Amino acid sequence: MHDPRLLFIIGMSSNFYSRTISLEEEREGYIFILKHRLMLFPSSGQLFTLKTKDTERVVKVEAVSCVCRGAELPHEHYFIRWKGIQEGNHVIIEQNDATPRLFKMVIE
Ligand SMILES: [Zn+2]
Repeated sequence: MHDPRLLFIIGMSSNFYSRTISLEEEREGYIFILKHRLMLFPSSGQLFTLKTKDTERVVKVEAVSCVCRGAELPHEHYFIRWKGIQEGNHVIIEQNDATPRLFKMVIE
């Protein structure tokens, strides 16, 4: 059921982004966006609206350079700041087809 190859294929083709929040994300107040799903979102730095059932915030995808794989493998990590997100939360972010700058987020 959780064949990683299948999940990868679904991840590549779906119009939503789904993720389980880590302790680091809770601590820093952001949601990581994996690189292969970046194209789902407006380009880095472009503002868009992220709406949950409780709130609506203007956000952007931000990039930070990182050496977590060693100094010889520098790369970037991408994230959306979202204060109050908690470890273990499962988030689903979905683009509103009619309004490209509006995304809906379910936190469960
Ligand atoms: Zn890294």
